[in-house]
Amino acid sequence: MDKNWSEKNKEIQKLLSKEATFGEAIRKLIEFREELFQQISWIVEGYPDKAFYQLPFAGAKGYHSKTLAYSIWHIFRIEDIVAHEMIAEDEQILFREKFLKKTGSPIITTGNELEGEDIAEFSKKLKVQELYRYAKAVKDSSDKILLQLQYRDLKRKFNEDTKQKLIESKCVSEDENAFWLIDYWCGKDIKGLIQMPFSRHWIMHIEAMQRIKNRLCKLARKGLDPVAICGLSCNHCFLGEWCGGCRTEYNTCSFAVYSEDRICPNVKCCNEKNIDGCYECDNIENCEKGFYVSSNDGANAAKAQSLYIRKYGKKEFLKVQTRLHEKYEFEKVQEIIGQDYKEALRILEEN
Ligand code: SF4
Ligand code: SF4
Repeated sequence: MDKNWSEKNKEIQKLLSKEATFGEAIRKLIEFREELFQQISWIVEGYPDKAFYQLPFAGAKGYHSKTLAYSIWHIFRIEDIVAHEMIAEDEQILFREKFLKKTGSPIITTGNELEGEDIAEFSKKLKVQELYRYAKAVKDSSDKILLQLQYRDLKRKFNEDTKQKLIESKCVSEDENAFWLIDYWCGKDIKGLIQMPFSRHWIMHIEAMQRIKNRLCKLARKGLDPVAICGLSCNHCFLGEWCGGCRTEYNTCSFAVYSEDRICPNVKCCNEKNIDGCYECDNIENCEKGFYVSSNDGANAAKAQSLYIRKYGKKEFLKVQTRLHEKYEFEKVQEIIGQDYKEALRILEEN
């Protein structure tokens, strides 16, 4: 488990155990959930729809053997059921806000009963943006429930009536891979539910989602030119695990994600000019497009790198990048070559 997340989770669980620190525990838990949810937001924002139904670890044992869409559905179905059928005892968000229709989901269950290709087929049917809205609505609703809890509520247990209600809701499949969840949840008090569906369960699945998207990016980049169209090196970029590069559909560079049709201005311009990259353009020194806009801290470094590629070729460029990154961290390299592109070109030539 991610060390930082594990530490935060441990601290929250410790604070939760004492009445004097209960309020702080809930505040920190909500902050932590926000931090974790940000990972989901970035994934939904950055990747194409096809990324959400791929099974890059098909057949593996563990949470990473699922898809991105399934992981989101599963985390928030479980939380929706637990938060509303068990803790708040009101209507689930899935039904109250008509997310079953909106998401296009063919099931109302947690998805534990699905395996292998069935997970991919199920994921293909989900509308990713609506799925994200559902996840956000569940999170916000659960945060409100958490804020209303008192310390004394933590010991509240669940009886046979709750168990029957869960069975009758049909939100947990009768399949042996799923049905155990009802006994598992009903065996816990509210504190136990906060410890699993509301926090630890998130960490485990979000970590698995990171593994899935890292793998998808790696597969997308395999065999492709690692030199970005604006002259950056994908092999040395800090976004390496998040991005497939601008020559793939897995381009999560902010200059692409926040541009019209998710096409980066540098990529668009090079496509229109029918050139491989900005390093083949005569206007590079004066260009203000995309990554080269003067307000971008990295513009000078990228221009210098493109000029270097133009002069010495991509192979030499990648070698000089490797030498620089052996000496310095990514940020330091950007700082060193980020001041003035002519000076940066000189530095690259010296290394
Ligand atoms: S700014 Fe554009 S060209 Fe440069 S890495 Fe990002 S997407 Fe690729
Ligand atoms: S005009 Fe700018 S964005 Fe277009 S190819 Fe030339 S350097 Fe690249």
